[in-house]
Amino acid sequence: MKLLNDSVVFSFSRSNDPAVYVDVPAEVEVETKDCFSNQLCSPEDRMEQLDWDKTNPATGPIYVNGAEAGDTLKVTVNKIKLAQQGVACCLEGEGVLGHRINGSHTKIIQVEDGIAHFATGIDIPVNTMIGVIGVAPEGDPVNAGTPGRHGGNMDNTMITEGAVLYFPVAKEGALLALGDVHAVMGDGEIGVSGLEIPAEVSLTIELIKGRQYEYPVLENNESFSVIVSKPTVDEAVIRATELMHDFLTERSDLPDTDVVMLMSLAGNLQICQVVDPEKTVRFVFPKAYMGRAEF
Ligand code: CA
Ligand code: ZN
Repeated sequence: MKLLNDSVVFSFSRSNDPAVYVDVPAEVEVETKDCFSNQLCSPEDRMEQLDWDKTNPATGPIYVNGAEAGDTLKVTVNKIKLAQQGVACCLEGEGVLGHRINGSHTKIIQVEDGIAHFATGIDIPVNTMIGVIGVAPEGDPVNAGTPGRHGGNMDNTMITEGAVLYFPVAKEGALLALGDVHAVMGDGEIGVSGLEIPAEVSLTIELIKGRQYEYPVLENNESFSVIVSKPTVDEAVIRATELMHDFLTERSDLPDTDVVMLMSLAGNLQICQVVDPEKTVRFVFPKAYMGRAEF
């Protein structure tokens, strides 16, 4: 099934009308616009002219038949196919270095054969990832530029081909939506933009009934991670670490305090992004040292 990018939402909301209904397991192809709704296509296109109401479009929502609050939506990212051109930008007052920028700056970047041509002599291998992906939240609508327990704008470089995401379903149908693909982005996304690019994403959607985690969890071949967003990095660090401690304790026969030591020796606390309205970190732990390495 294919979902076109003319079905977009700009917030994750319980009251969004579904664009499509699917039965699990579902194979879905989703077209995504870039985070500016493809408004910046040439170096002359200025950020000052942007219609900010059209930023962070998320294609969807996909209504998953049978999903109810309390369940977990399991989403596998099979493939991300990029357009041939993306855009990077920076803007006065925005991001960690916003105080060093005058005006706005846009760079159109060609992407071919897995390489982003940033400048002469600076070719960056792509690390294709999904910036915005999530489900309807528990409470009020959350604009698609903000991350949270529902997922959303997590800007996590690990949401790439092969990643499996587990989202806490808060509303019947789950209402999955996604967008904001990056051809490449550094951890932190310090200048508020990755290499923003339209894409086509292939997903498998499954459902786990009757249990869920407080925040999204990511699994890949090597590790599990918990992805937590909070108003400050410090708060996100504490909750991500607590939740990974719970996650590991539930899946291990070790005493709680051994799990603390093991996390301190072999776990990695990493930054996803520090530039969105809430900051996102992940606690990554290798499957090899887990008792039961399953969600
Ligand atoms: Ca983003
Ligand atoms: Zn983006």
